[in-house]
Amino acid sequence: MPDSVTLLIEPLPADAPESAIAGTFHEADAAEPALRVGELSTQRGDGIFETIGVVDGHAQEVAPHLERLRNSARICELPEPNLTQWRAAIDLAVGELPTEGEFALKIVLSRGIEQGPTPTAWLHAVAAKDSTEARERGIRVVTLDRGYARDAAERAPWLLLGAKTLSYAINMAALREAARRRADDAIFVSSDGFVMEGPTSSVILRIGDTYVTPATTGAILAGTTQQSLFEHLRATGHEVDERDVALDELRRADAAWLVSSVRLAAGIVELDGEAFPFDADETRAFNEYLLSPRD
Ligand code: PLP
Repeated sequence: MPDSVTLLIEPLPADAPESAIAGTFHEADAAEPALRVGELSTQRGDGIFETIGVVDGHAQEVAPHLERLRNSARICELPEPNLTQWRAAIDLAVGELPTEGEFALKIVLSRGIEQGPTPTAWLHAVAAKDSTEARERGIRVVTLDRGYARDAAERAPWLLLGAKTLSYAINMAALREAARRRADDAIFVSSDGFVMEGPTSSVILRIGDTYVTPATTGAILAGTTQQSLFEHLRATGHEVDERDVALDELRRADAAWLVSSVRLAAGIVELDGEAFPFDADETRAFNEYLLSPRD
């Protein structure tokens, strides 16, 4: 079985019937060129994406990822994606992957080529990077100024905050800055002092017996992993809260995690160079849940 799958997709309009899906997927060799030089995804980062975790042959939380793709398309004024077609592409790719192990399945919808008639779409699934160390031993994190206030999305919708766009150069720069400060990851803080999110993850804190995450106002991406974990915590009798979180609250929290679709839950062991309380048992329980099949 191949350990990666690449599909080039002819994106259908949202209202196309299911019968139109046949013949819209083309298997490709990831080592071969597949995009045109006029592609706006590569020229301008003008497009949207989702990264879905695949665990032992099961794609996790596909519906919430597709809903977020639809929301990103709305914010970016891209044509509404045909979610039935995307679901079929994911099913096809997962069917070709090994039934054991963890994979990262990325779906991309770009504005297409300059003056081109349609958006460009593709799927690429590869073996996930080994996250054992981060899951079991935790991560060192630094806080970094995001450079805008918590209400930036409402005041400046053209910043496309809240959409998962391909423009991740800033997020990657934040990770390099974290590495320079001898940390594994970062947490963005708004210019008015509120905890936002990691460059590729959501933040969860435990304060006493309550699990808290920064409210997803427009400036923060709504995390599928955070939402799934909160549903699980609620269902198992825990208190959860989505609200504004001041940086000082993070510093005083009883535990905190960065959560995301592929690395899953990584507990914070050090914050801005200071030791931070890490709960290994609770983190293990989170990851056991997150590795179980989730729809
Ligand atoms: N916030 C940002 C900026 C992200 O890039 C991601 C994931 O890549 C997340 C949050 C977490 O989202 P999810 O749990 O859906 O992977």
